Amino acid sequence: MARRPFGGFYALMFITLTKHLQPAPLPVDDDPRWARIVARDKSADGAFWYSVATTGVYCRPSCPSRRANPANVQLHDTLQQAKATGFRPCRRCNPDGPSLEAANAAMVADACRRIEASEDEPSLAELADAAGRSPGYFHRVFKALTGLTPKDYAAARRAARVRQGLEDGVSVTSAIYDAGFNSSGRFYEKSTGMLGMTPTRYRAGGANEEIRFAVGETSLGTILVASSRKGVASILLGQDPDALVRDLQDRFPKARLVGGDGDYEALVARVVGFVEAPALGLDLPLDVRGTAFQQRVWQALRDIPAGHTVSYAEIARRIGAPKATRAIAAACAANALAVAIPCHRVIRKDGALSGYAWGAERKRALLDREAGGTATTYRSSRA
Ligand SMILES: [Zn+2]
Repeated sequence: MARRPFGGFYALMFITLTKHLQPAPLPVDDDPRWARIVARDKSADGAFWYSVATTGVYCRPSCPSRRANPANVQLHDTLQQAKATGFRPCRRCNPDGPSLEAANAAMVADACRRIEASEDEPSLAELADAAGRSPGYFHRVFKALTGLTPKDYAAARRAARVRQGLEDGVSVTSAIYDAGFNSSGRFYEKSTGMLGMTPTRYRAGGANEEIRFAVGETSLGTILVASSRKGVASILLGQDPDALVRDLQDRFPKARLVGGDGDYEALVARVVGFVEAPALGLDLPLDVRGTAFQQRVWQALRDIPAGHTVSYAEIARRIGAPKATRAIAAACAANALAVAIPCHRVIRKDGALSGYAWGAERKRALLDREAGGTATTYRSSRA
């Protein structure tokens, strides 16, 4: 009686050994891989294949077709082994090609590169078209794989580029333009959400000063008004808001530019009113920045009443630098405060208007307006 357990033990050991030495194939439905086929487990694709003797096809594990009887199924470790059966590749799961997962991943990766490389945000239709899929399908797969819609992805990429630009010490405006934002207004509108704070605060840490600005419209075209703590530091006229913002950044390369809020819009409205009727004067403090010479020139300009014009030579005489006519013209050109420092009231000795940093047409319109006579309507040269 006492030996029987030993005999049973040896018998068991013998079976175990033979199983190791001569592995008999498990019945397919005992093989753990069968459960993955039943589950149509996509993560099993590429790990093994199976063939079905009754239909004469071979498949990838996730094949959506009706489940075969495991008695007719053979499992294969490699695609070559599956092909060696001489069966056909299944049309539904395309076992020879990349898996749907891999194809979708490649499609999304391609779309991401396309979004990153384009200046303007590609539309959903364009992206879907490039992928050869319907917009609905493309959108669904993109969202499933990235967790973002294509639009959100584009916005996130741009935000990342702005962040990178700011970390590299590039000016806020450059960072915004380099990142592909066409209008800084649009950027500021979105920036708080993307950066978690305004771009300038993101960049803060330096002792740079803050310049608030906003863009508006006047009868003379687009106007940009910018202020430091001390007062209005810039009034720029033009046609293109983006160009004005770039101009502002060039004039204050180290400043932190901040889009104006509601309060600031009210100040801009006062400046716009002043530009429409300069004779009323601008009752706002100005922050006039320039060399001592420029300051003298600009003060002389501010002493010219509305409705009057003075020649460059006369300004030269007034500031006690009669030979500095060219330097005076240069100081006029460097003026950052259109209308508030009325460089438009300086004309040539012969009465010709001469140049104007913000366009000769605007100069003429301003002078006509101040003369109070024929109200010349300003016409954009681009219109
Ligand atoms: Zn199949």
